[in-house]
Amino acid sequence: MKPTMGSKNQSVKQRSSSTTEREFGGTLGATCIPIFLPLTVLYLISVVRSPAASVLQWPPPLPPTGHLWAPVAPALLLGWITLHVFLYLLPCGKVSEGLLLKNGTRLKYPINGFHALCISVALLMLLLWTDAPLGSLFELLLPLAVCAMGLSFVLSVYLYVRSFWAPHHALAPGGNTGNPLYDFFIGRELNPRIGGFDLKYFCELRPGLIGWVVVNLGMLMKEVELRDSPSLAMILVNSFQLLYVADALWNEEAVLTTMDIVHDGFGFMLVFGDLAWVPFTYSLQAAFLVVHPQSLSPVGAATIVLLNGIGYYIFRKSNSQKNQFRRNPMHPSVSKLETIATATGKRLLVSGWWGLVRHPNYLGDLLMAFAWSLPCGFSHLLPYFYVIYFTILLIHREARDERQCRAKYGLAWDAYCRRVPYRIFPYIY
Ligand code: NDP
Repeated sequence: MKPTMGSKNQSVKQRSSSTTEREFGGTLGATCIPIFLPLTVLYLISVVRSPAASVLQWPPPLPPTGHLWAPVAPALLLGWITLHVFLYLLPCGKVSEGLLLKNGTRLKYPINGFHALCISVALLMLLLWTDAPLGSLFELLLPLAVCAMGLSFVLSVYLYVRSFWAPHHALAPGGNTGNPLYDFFIGRELNPRIGGFDLKYFCELRPGLIGWVVVNLGMLMKEVELRDSPSLAMILVNSFQLLYVADALWNEEAVLTTMDIVHDGFGFMLVFGDLAWVPFTYSLQAAFLVVHPQSLSPVGAATIVLLNGIGYYIFRKSNSQKNQFRRNPMHPSVSKLETIATATGKRLLVSGWWGLVRHPNYLGDLLMAFAWSLPCGFSHLLPYFYVIYFTILLIHREARDERQCRAKYGLAWDAYCRRVPYRIFPYIY
């Protein structure tokens, strides 16, 4: 989708058809969140590395400003992103089409994220083999997070400015309010591209998500430096989260039907989430274990593995069922499921996983999130940050999706809600 200079008529049309609905607290939220979230990332990293690791300690263990910067950090970050741009452009894997856009066309996407993960892991193994000091990522967490956040701001400004050259049909349904702060935050353009390179699709599953695996491995190597071998708790956290990232990339095509790609514009909210929030807050459990080693009994470890396995099974099966149904409802694995018709011509599943609760995939995801915190024991709240934050995020996301589905499907959605009354947790919520 190349940016084209809009004509005068087009810009008049753009202004007259701007969206009015606001999410995330509207302008106030859009002003406060970009300040609050970066401070939260710095705060969490500082607390997790402090001896007390307590979110209740006062004053908070803020680092000296000298600890926020290291010249190697921007070089590492830019090198990492360049590597992933190169891997994205590699002509391997298939090319898939996205959903139908407003102008009746479909965009093409390379499905080679799993290749990018495998090549990244191979390169990391090579680095380990050459005794590269991967454990020093622990000391570099703050400078790397600062650089990732700086990059997120720069990219978001670029995206906001270039969106004014995008044709009207290329704007996201919710990102065109005319309020610069809100539109900058929520994202104006739906699928910003440089030539064939899709910026949102690239950021969604590659540098940040695979970066999370690298940060985790760095924490594991730091533990090896300090205590000669990785603990069982650290191995579990690394393995669970590697499985989650590998799964996302193995099923990369499924991201093409998610809310992020189909509905949300590419603005600060997603850019920051993809490039800074995911790698530097999702890795908190591994960072916590470096300073606060935990011993796990075999029974404890087996129970946690079982919980993660159950969560993963529900998550994967339900996501695959819906994805298969949306791509080909006649496929034998979904053709016998009960459905209800909607006025749009699309049908809604009311049996199988999507007949259990309205978001079975969120249920599985939350069970896994809990399993990732348990290896850190019960002495601190901080390793549970992810599961607490993620519960809030998914409850909020479920409400957003519900609003969009009600607008799309009207009475049929109400019928689905009556038939499947629980949202995420059966008989609870
Ligand atoms: P979902 O995959 O849950 O998709 C929601 C869409 O599915 C709806 O908009 C609707 O779209 C369709 N749908 C809803 N109900 C039905 C039904 N009964 N039958 C058929 N289609 C239905 O969206 P998300 O993007 O929120 O989640 C994808 C995955 O990503 C989840 O597993 C989630 O847990 C995970 N996730 C992880 C995050 C993380 O940070 N770790 C963050 C966010 C999500 P339509 O009808 O138009 O097809």
